[in-house]
Order: sequence, then structure tokens, then C-alpha cells
Amino acid sequence: MSDQSRARQKVLRALRRASHRYNPRRAVGMAFSLSVLFAVPLSGLARVDLWSGRHALLFRAVPFKHGLAGVIVGIAAFYVATFLVNVGGGRLFCGWGCPIGQVSRFGEAVDQPGAKRGQRLSASAKGALFSGALVLSIFAWWVDLRVFWQGGSAALALSWGLMALSVALTYAHGRWWRWGFCMTTCPIGLYYSFVSPAKWFGVHFRNEADSCIECDLCDNVCPVDLKPRELMAATGPRPGLSVADAPGRNHCLECGDCVRACEWIIAQRGQEPVPLLMSFFSGPQRINQGDEVAAQSPPRSDRELSA
Ligand code: SF4
Ligand code: SF4
Repeated sequence: MSDQSRARQKVLRALRRASHRYNPRRAVGMAFSLSVLFAVPLSGLARVDLWSGRHALLFRAVPFKHGLAGVIVGIAAFYVATFLVNVGGGRLFCGWGCPIGQVSRFGEAVDQPGAKRGQRLSASAKGALFSGALVLSIFAWWVDLRVFWQGGSAALALSWGLMALSVALTYAHGRWWRWGFCMTTCPIGLYYSFVSPAKWFGVHFRNEADSCIECDLCDNVCPVDLKPRELMAATGPRPGLSVADAPGRNHCLECGDCVRACEWIIAQRGQEPVPLLMSFFSGPQRINQGDEVAAQSPPRSDRELSA
């Protein structure tokens, strides 16, 4: 486990003892994503069936090429939808609706320091079940799921074999690659770092009442190695696929973990207000730690940031 993961796990361990409003919200986001992934092919809105040829488009049986066109349009629609969310609210999909991120959270729960054997087993089972649901939803775009019980012996062997392999890889991703994928490889993350997200909404640092105790919990818990107090500043080179010197907010998953850590430590101290917020931008924002907090409204563009 890397130093960054170890530091994050220590903070998460403290946070897991307390319930938080973000937990049910994230669960709703993940349920929505999985529901959409299942609903499109199962309803017949768009589906290719490589097993029995039951291709579908707009709820009707169609030839293969029409079903394939529907699947391609469906994938493009997903990108357009996440792009629009990104323009208004930053990478909210990454933090609240991306099933791959959720698989990483299950992996972290398995490896939680101090967790009892039963807790690890329970987290493993949840991670495997979630991975299975995710893989099944993706299969449903390409094959009629009845293949899993009605297929001939070759189709059964192939479908169950592919299913087992895909679930194992997805689960392994959550256990061992985790947020490294989000930081270095995710194609959605790449184009998010090109566009300028979150002009109105996101994580921001407002320390007008000097309530920040400089505990660094927010830095330690960030899964993608950002400095949540300085998301307006350019990050410098990042690993993997990304644009050099984009502001930290372009890389921020909007997961809220830093805000949660900040709320927790500030409450422990009996202080207020919480200096780190996930909300609409307003008031002064810190650009760099060495600088005065910049007394300006949130930047309207990245050009303004670098000016
Ligand atoms: S967690 Fe909150 S109090 Fe601690 S350093 Fe970050 S912003 Fe400051
Ligand atoms: S800066 Fe905060 S909200 Fe953004 S990825 Fe890091 S922990 Fe999540």
C-alpha cells in the first residue's frame, strides 16, 4: 500500500465511525447509474444480442446494424450527459455516480486497517456483488441475458466464463488499482482535464474566520492526491493521461471526502465554521498556500486563473 493510500485509510477509519449525509446520497447516485445501465438494454431502448440476434432499438426488434447504432448513440449520450454535468458542477459523476469509483471504495473497506475478519469478509462480499451487478449491466448491452440459463453448452461456458473473468478483474481493480485508474487512465478523466469544469460549483476553501487548523486531513484523505485547499491553483505535472498545469479542480472527483474529513475534525474541536465546503462558489478562494487568500469571486475561466 502506498503512503498516500495509508494516509487516506487512516482518515477513513475515523470517518467510518460516524454516519454522514454523503453516504445515502452516494448510494442513490450509484443505484441510479446501475439502473440506467440495466434499463437501456433490458427495456429494448438499445441493445445488441450477440447470442440469439434479438437486437433492439426504440423498443422494437431490429437488424444488427441498427441495434449497434443504438448502442453507440447510447454510449455517446452518456458522454454528453456527463459532460453537461461537468460544465455545471465539475466531476460530480466521478464522485457520486461512477461505479468504478464505488468498486474502489469497497476495496478500501476490505483493506481497512483494524477491521475484523468478519468486516473484511462482508466488505469483500459487497464488493464482489457490486462488481457482479456492474458487469452484468454491461453484458446486457451486448447479449440477451437469457443466455445465462437458456444457452447451449458452448454459449453457457463462454458467457459464464467471461462473466467470472470480468467480475474477478473488476473486483481486483477495486482492491489493487483503485484510484490509480482515475488518476492515470480513465478516458473520461482525461477529457475533463481538458475542459474547464465547475465554474459555479465544487470544493472550495473559505477560511475567513481562520477556523482551519492546518491539520492536513483533507490532503491526506484525497484519493487522487490533490490539495483541496488549493484547487484553484495549477497542479503541475500529473501522472498518466492529463493536461499539465490544469487547475486542481479539473482533477477533483467532487467526492466530498475532504469536506467530510474537515467537518469531522472541526466538529471534534468544537469549532465553526467549516472552512472547506462543497457548494456553489462564493467569496474569496485561496489560490496558493504562500499567497494571501485571494479576495476575488471564483474565476470565470482557467485563463483568469493563470493571469
Ligand atoms: S481538513 Fe479542514 S481544518 Fe484540516 S487542513 Fe483541511 S481545511 Fe484545514
Ligand atoms: S479534492 Fe476533495 S472532493 Fe476533490 S477528489 Fe480530493 S477529496 Fe475528493
